[in-house]
Amino acid sequence: MSRSAHPAGPRHADVLPEGHWTAPATDLNALDEKVWSRTVTRDADGAVSVGGIEVARLAEEFGTPAYILDESDFRARCRAWADAFGADADVFYAGKAFLSRAVVRWLKEEGLNLDVCSGGELATALDAGMPAERIAFHGNNKTTAEIERAVTAGVGRIVLDSFQEIVRVAHVAQGLGTRQRVQIRVTVGVEAHTHEFIATAHEDQKFGIALADGQAAEAVRRALTLDGLELVGIHSHIGSQIFDMAGFEVSARRVVGLLAEIRDEHGVELPEIDLGGGLGIAYTSEDDPREPHEIAKALGDIVTRECESAGLATPRISVEPGRAIVGPTAFTLYEVGTIKPLEGLRTYVSVDGGMSDNIRTALYDAEYSVSLVSRSSDAGPMLVRVVGKHCESGDIVVKDAFLPSDLAPGDLIAVPATGAYCRSMASNYNHALRPPVVAVRDGRARVIVRRETEEDLLRLDVG
Ligand SMILES: *Cc1c(COP(=O)(O)O)cnc(C)c1O
Repeated sequence: MSRSAHPAGPRHADVLPEGHWTAPATDLNALDEKVWSRTVTRDADGAVSVGGIEVARLAEEFGTPAYILDESDFRARCRAWADAFGADADVFYAGKAFLSRAVVRWLKEEGLNLDVCSGGELATALDAGMPAERIAFHGNNKTTAEIERAVTAGVGRIVLDSFQEIVRVAHVAQGLGTRQRVQIRVTVGVEAHTHEFIATAHEDQKFGIALADGQAAEAVRRALTLDGLELVGIHSHIGSQIFDMAGFEVSARRVVGLLAEIRDEHGVELPEIDLGGGLGIAYTSEDDPREPHEIAKALGDIVTRECESAGLATPRISVEPGRAIVGPTAFTLYEVGTIKPLEGLRTYVSVDGGMSDNIRTALYDAEYSVSLVSRSSDAGPMLVRVVGKHCESGDIVVKDAFLPSDLAPGDLIAVPATGAYCRSMASNYNHALRPPVVAVRDGRARVIVRRETEEDLLRLDVG
């Protein structure tokens, strides 16, 4: 039956999308270091450990589903980014990828700055002691209350996203008797996703102010005249899960072009440019992300070259990786509940979570990998689709993957690279209780965001 070995063969052409890998990993017990956090190992007895703790012990102590976050890996990635960009540049971690008070403290200790894009993220950052001058505030529709809170706290920069906001922030800052450091977010006509980018003259999107038609130049003109604002730079963010540096190259060229225009028109050289985030990570073995030092070198070279040819001093560069820092540091641990072989198609493996803890597959068609982690297995591969327990047929966690054909209810499986945009996008659909985030480090595990309880759910429901 199809629960037994499912050899890669002509049949797979019918069920796997075109261009998808068609063969199972040669060794289903192997853990590709590209997609797993750094302290994940498979021990001699076949069980998987992280931070020196067996996953079965974590499941016993904290339950499933759970996000297991490798704290030393998180810290190492922060340091790699900080070291790669050095003292002449700034790395801002994009808090929307995943934010908690523990994360804020790690960022602070490892020397990173922090991007927030809502009052809630700002409150978390300030509560955990991130110095306000190391916080940047983003968003295309910040409320006046949020702006007041950010200016009062003394955030290092507010990234202005519209003509209305230029006036709003200036008004708030002036009312509070201060000058707010700001950047203007421009859309440079580049859209980058994964392995390709598209350069366009116009951009049909809600973020930023278009470079096209002199819109951005007009925004700069207005910002420079307002007493409440200190315009320090230009900001651009071109997409997400990007591997190809060519999009950044076009974006940097266009931003530097604007800096030159500003110098020519106003006689000022803005001291900063921010090239945003969006750098890709490996969700499956097919992905080949770049290391922070390669990215730093590529971006630094592009900006230096463009500035030289425009006769500008090289501005201070900042970048805003979210996914590239936290994404690879966590995996989601699930228990297998039911297994349904569909003859000639695939086997559906249902886990105790789903689209409430990982919406990315349903939302973006994201690809993930999955491994059996409570034991090893010598059984042959079977083609599986890992699905959740929600009332929605699109409730898919991993679209196509291979697991050992002796998989059984009660086994623990884990989906790696779920540190970014999973807990932060989690929902209570079907009144699911959002899973905890458990940080492991050097043989110790602790909850940094606890599991939601039915009491939590009912507390908001005032009857
Ligand atoms: C989302 C976002 C980021 C981070 O994107 P990642 O893909 O997580 O690196 C950085 N900057 C801005 C302005 C963003 O909106």
